[in-house]
Amino acid sequence: MPELPEVETTVRGLEQVLRGRRIARVEARRPDLRRALPEDLGQRLTGARVTRLRRRAKYGLIDTDRDDTLVFHLGMSGKWRIDPTEIGKHDHFIIETDEGRRLALNDARRFGSLDLVRADELDEWPPFKALGPEPLDLDARELKKRLAGRSAAIKLLLLDQSIVAGLGNIYVCEALYRAGIHPARAGGSISLERLERLVPAFHDVLDEAIAAGGSTLRDFAAPGGELGYFSKSFAVYDREKKPCAKGGTVKRIVQGGRSTFYCPKCQH
Ligand SMILES: [Zn+2]
Repeated sequence: MPELPEVETTVRGLEQVLRGRRIARVEARRPDLRRALPEDLGQRLTGARVTRLRRRAKYGLIDTDRDDTLVFHLGMSGKWRIDPTEIGKHDHFIIETDEGRRLALNDARRFGSLDLVRADELDEWPPFKALGPEPLDLDARELKKRLAGRSAAIKLLLLDQSIVAGLGNIYVCEALYRAGIHPARAGGSISLERLERLVPAFHDVLDEAIAAGGSTLRDFAAPGGELGYFSKSFAVYDREKKPCAKGGTVKRIVQGGRSTFYCPKCQH
């Protein structure tokens, strides 16, 4: 499943093809993904110029000079294909630029989404309205405030998009390990001093993953390149019963129906 770093890398890759370009043609090859595509998608996008690309939580945003923003979410399996040699059955949405470049949104499981939102209505758009701050903009004092009085496990609170937007399971596990915080600890009980280790840990794990994705960006620009996933290695995630770097053994527990990986020796 694409997490925040993959979305950031995808946005940077799309930027190389789309920024400043006019959209010559779009094609919706089915009426829906997770939800229906906007019916006037083609009309509003055709002829528009792309002014900016950016990310909010795990959404990619493509702004146009018509004050529309095309918002995409990659869901479980979505990816953008750059200049595909042929269009496959999972290529559900196609954009062609005035330079003749072609992008295909490919999503085999169709948990992704594509919406067109007026730029001045983005903050009030339901999926964005309740989102907390971006993890890369967050500081420890703000996080302390957001966790105040909460008795739920820190792991679950960090996955709550209204507390911090866009953090996924992998990076929460990794950041808690780096900060030495046990994933089941009550969120509201964690001292500011410990949060001052946790917040930089988020920044580090996300920045490292974005850098790892960025190092392969040049491949995306080539015909047949794909945006959406890259390989990376983790300290605890998906390493049950394997050693941690400091001599402990990684343990897996289930919290909120999802696996948490942590080191009982390093995390308290
Ligand atoms: Zn350890």
